[in-house]
Amino acid sequence: MPHAVSLLRAARLARSTKPFLARGGFKRERCAGCRLVPSHCMCAVRPSVPTRAGVCLLMADIEPLKPTNTGWLVADVVADTFAFGWARTETDPALLALLSDPQWQPYVVFPGQYAAPERVVMSVPASSDAAGGDVARRPLFILFDATWAEARKMFRRSPYLDRLPVLSLQPEQVTQYRLRNSGRDDHFCTSEVAAMCMSLAGEQAVEQTLEAYLAVFTHHYLRAKNQQPVAWDGAAHQRLREVSALREQVA
Ligand SMILES: [Zn+2]
Repeated sequence: MPHAVSLLRAARLARSTKPFLARGGFKRERCAGCRLVPSHCMCAVRPSVPTRAGVCLLMADIEPLKPTNTGWLVADVVADTFAFGWARTETDPALLALLSDPQWQPYVVFPGQYAAPERVVMSVPASSDAAGGDVARRPLFILFDATWAEARKMFRRSPYLDRLPVLSLQPEQVTQYRLRNSGRDDHFCTSEVAAMCMSLAGEQAVEQTLEAYLAVFTHHYLRAKNQQPVAWDGAAHQRLREVSALREQVA
């Protein structure tokens, strides 16, 4: 069953009048499961971690088509990942329905300095807080899957988000993400932001899996681009296996 980002990508491709060729991307045949060339396919190691939290990706127009898009990785790992194409002039009714679904507590993940102070929160109730019969709603992290300029526009021009709390992240780790160099130390890729949200929600296994899986994707992507073989016993794959073994111990 294709996930939400895969479906959005297929819909966006169907609307394209000419085949999308990513600048700097490879133009060879791609695996439908991971978007990599078949020789570098990573579908065999795709992790899925049970989690109480969900992710709602609001994606800029061509974002689902970019071979480096990491919202795709979030959808691989987190079962309750929703993805919507963002447009200023129209809003998908399914998005509005999701945002008012009482099982979820949505948070708009965005730097607090851009929001009214009374909307800004720095933390979310952890899963463990809800264990004792509490009826706390499940956190739903709304992430802008877009460039920084697009994300600011989306944040300003989505009135249906105005009533929601803004979760402002305080990232301490420096990005290891090398595929896109935004020139800003504080600009993280989407799967890194999702990992930080999961950490705040007390979902450490998901956080670690997202981090390790991003490193594996980065490895496969760069190896494919440079026409080098995948190092299945290299550091990235070892880390992903470690994280998965840890998860099984806890479970
Ligand atoms: Zn694949």
